[in-house]
Amino acid sequence: MDRPLIRYSFQPGPSQLYPDIGTYIQEALSEGLLSRYHRDPVWKALYRSAQEAVKTFLGVPSDWLVLFVSSATEAWQILVDASAESPSLHFIQGAFGERWYTLQKNASPFAFSHTVDETLTWPEQVEAASRKYAGAAFVGAVHVETSRGAALPDLPTLRKAFPSALIAIDATSSLGGLQLPWEAGDVWFASVQKCLGLPPGIALMILSPAAQERYGEYPHLRHNTLSYLIRKAQIHQPPFTPNLLGIYLLARSLPNRPPLSETHRRLQARAHTLYQALTEKGYLLPIPEAYRAPTVISATWKDPTKAQEKTEKLEKEGLYLGKGYGKESQTHFRIANFPALPDQAYEELLVRL
Ligand SMILES: *Cc1c(COP(=O)(O)O)cnc(C)c1O
Repeated sequence: MDRPLIRYSFQPGPSQLYPDIGTYIQEALSEGLLSRYHRDPVWKALYRSAQEAVKTFLGVPSDWLVLFVSSATEAWQILVDASAESPSLHFIQGAFGERWYTLQKNASPFAFSHTVDETLTWPEQVEAASRKYAGAAFVGAVHVETSRGAALPDLPTLRKAFPSALIAIDATSSLGGLQLPWEAGDVWFASVQKCLGLPPGIALMILSPAAQERYGEYPHLRHNTLSYLIRKAQIHQPPFTPNLLGIYLLARSLPNRPPLSETHRRLQARAHTLYQALTEKGYLLPIPEAYRAPTVISATWKDPTKAQEKTEKLEKEGLYLGKGYGKESQTHFRIANFPALPDQAYEELLVRL
């Protein structure tokens, strides 16, 4: 199999890694960290510094809890197990939201969903959904729907409409790039191989004090029951042998990144430039403006019969473009606007598109 060298990956996950990751991987190896007992004092301190690094970098309030699981998909299941007895409502905007809701529905007779109608305004449909599903005790929403390059325009609207529900937000394609309104949710989670620019194999869950209280006492029924994860994370311990390299990379790399406020502004400005440049080049943008994601940009090929040839040509030049998701794989392409990519990568891509 021909494997052209990738210089810049625009794939929305696994995504471009930060350039300093290699140094930290080498460091972990040369210190023998990956052969050290994961509950000894060294790892306990590293686990704790990874939790702290996440909170400091993202600006998470100090009384919130950070814990580590293996993927965002696992986080869905952990939340499904914890909330299956409650009436729930999932906002769906694409394939990832759909999959999360399907897991909920398979486990719970009280699972409802609202498919985001992109011809309506966001506040108006949230308001309508809150009247229709007034009893929802658990609300799930995907901030940036990676599969379509769509996003929910405003998360605090959910909190206002569902003041007493527990709100869980899948922020896989925004966490690490955009500043997030923590108080709008109770549980936030993300895999690290998208906007965070780290190698795959670990995900973060970030829990408000309310979520820790609500789920902390839940019976420990099976592997990775949320209550057990919470109790262990509160004493800086993993419940199983975790992805130690992933934890090390979080602890080591996040403190060296530019401030998130700066990154947020940089990504917003770059998204604006990209959407405008694609429009000027005659590409159609399938998502209405109000719902376009700043971090994952989707466009349709002008001539789908040439899509494969064009993608392969780009790849030979070291530019790895994201395909459309699922049934859109031949008709659409996606460009991750993630912080690990330098502006120059987009300049190179745009002149070739
Ligand atoms: C990629 C992605 C997931 C799944 O992540 P895994 O690490 O493969 O489990 C879930 N939600 C969103 C929004 C994603 O982009």
